[in-house]
Amino acid sequence: MVNRFLDKIEVYEDLFPQDIKVFINSRRIAKGLRTSIPAVSTSLTKTTRAFINHGRWIVECPGGCTDAVMASDKYRVFVCSLPMCVEKEYIRILFPAQRVSIEVELLKRPLHASGMKLHANWVFGESLQNLRDELAISDNLPRATD
Ligand SMILES: [Zn+2]
Repeated sequence: MVNRFLDKIEVYEDLFPQDIKVFINSRRIAKGLRTSIPAVSTSLTKTTRAFINHGRWIVECPGGCTDAVMASDKYRVFVCSLPMCVEKEYIRILFPAQRVSIEVELLKRPLHASGMKLHANWVFGESLQNLRDELAISDNLPRATD
C-alpha cells in the first residue's frame, strides 16, 4: 500500500479556482441580500463554527437547514442558499483557536488507498488528545512508532 499522507486540511481556495467572492455573490443574490459581501469580518454578530470533514474545513448553516459549504480563509463569511431557510443574513465563520494544532494532528493520518481522506475529521469541542488517541488505536492507521 502506498503510504501517502494528507498534505493540508483544505479550505475553499485550495479546491476551487473561482474566487470565493463570486460564489458568495451567487448565494447572496439567491437570498435577496442587497448589501455587499463584508471582508473577513468581526462586525457580524451571527456566527457558525467550522469543522473538519474528510480533510476539509466545512461550515453548516446554523439555521438547521443542512446547507453546507467549504469554509473560506479569504472571506470568513457564510450565506445560506436555501430559500426557505430562516437565516437571511451574512454569518461569520469561526475557526477554532487551536486550528494549527488540530491540523497538525490530522495531517499525521494517511490517505485511504482510494485517495479519500479518511479519518481526518474534527468537530467543535473535540480535544487534541482525542485526535491523538484515535490515531494510536485505529487498526487501519499506522501507529506513531511504525
Ligand atoms: Zn440555512
